[in-house]
Amino acid sequence: MPRMAEHTTSIFAEMSTLALEVGAVNLGQGFPDTDGPQELKDVAKAAIQDGRGNQYPPPHGLPLLREAIAVHQRRFYGLEVDPASEVVVGTGASEVIQAALLALVDDGDEVVLFEPWFDIYAAGVSLARGVRVGVPMAGPALRPDLDRLREVVTPRTRLILLNSPHNPTGVVFTPAELAEVARIAIDNDVLVIADEAYEHLWFDASRHVPLATLPGMWDRTVTVGSGGKTFSFTGWKVGWATGPRELIAAVRVVRQHLSYVSGGPFQYAMAHGLGLPDEYFEDFRADLAAKRDLLSAGLADLGLSVVATQGTYFVTTDVRGLGYSDGLEFCRTLPGRAGVVAIPHQAFCDDESVGAPYVRWAFCKQESVLRDALDRLGSAGLDAR
Ligand SMILES: *Cc1c(COP(=O)(O)O)cnc(C)c1O
Repeated sequence: MPRMAEHTTSIFAEMSTLALEVGAVNLGQGFPDTDGPQELKDVAKAAIQDGRGNQYPPPHGLPLLREAIAVHQRRFYGLEVDPASEVVVGTGASEVIQAALLALVDDGDEVVLFEPWFDIYAAGVSLARGVRVGVPMAGPALRPDLDRLREVVTPRTRLILLNSPHNPTGVVFTPAELAEVARIAIDNDVLVIADEAYEHLWFDASRHVPLATLPGMWDRTVTVGSGGKTFSFTGWKVGWATGPRELIAAVRVVRQHLSYVSGGPFQYAMAHGLGLPDEYFEDFRADLAAKRDLLSAGLADLGLSVVATQGTYFVTTDVRGLGYSDGLEFCRTLPGRAGVVAIPHQAFCDDESVGAPYVRWAFCKQESVLRDALDRLGSAGLDAR
């Protein structure tokens, strides 16, 4: 299919193959190497054992889970969500995002994305026969270029696909930045898909503020969450979206024809997780923040210029200071040279000049793994000259 030709290969496949060949430490792909809470496993096991979870759950999600999502949105954000009509559960945030794009984007509609983007967005826009329009995360701190956003949003724009906390940069949009995105969306009457997969992973003074909480935004925003990311069970693939009834109804229509339903036992477990006490979410953040600190400091000691991470699983470095012009070249040689895998931002950009100098490293790994990676990098030396 011509429109999917550009999506044939993935940087993760290329880098994982390289990693296997040389036995590299993989800081490429963003998944934790320790499991989430035991009690969620117990709930999933019980739902298998006693038979509650073993047949098709309702297509839009177990009522128990939709209720838990609504309670979570009220508890953390003060949002009132009707679990009967304003929630849809899917097979990971991924499926929900793709379903939302297919449901809301028509042939030739423009979809505005911040570059670098999360990798599935580009293919999702192509599947929906939309047209990608990029807005860079710009400057040394990789902030969203909101002047550019205002320029590119036109009557051809159907929606803005926003991701904060942002993968791969680790940027958390500030309240002022979100307010500007909201103003532009409202002024131009466009919809927003707000991918909030990392809603519980923000650090220090940053706070996650759902775009849907801003005045005028609930009615035009589909907000996406990921149980895999929030509870460190990325293999379970349960995600959801909340939003106004008409938008969620449209997403439901498409989504039910994709995977039909997502795994029953895991839906019970995620419902339990969403009700965990505040300490769970605080400890989760503290644990990841410590890992961020370890990897960021280690990479800086090796001479890399590190962009401060405010959220997510990832730290970004600028490789120019070491004499490389290009993150792709750096990442292709890194496994052979140092036995470590990282991912170039370039793989997530249409405008290569936006991502070229930057490389993403995942810190959602055990401390021993991060130290091993840093030792390897230290022994190999990183200077290109
Ligand atoms: C991991 C990730 C997703 C996908 O989440 P799943 O629940 O695993 O499908 C979506 N968006 C971003 C930004 C992610 O990093």
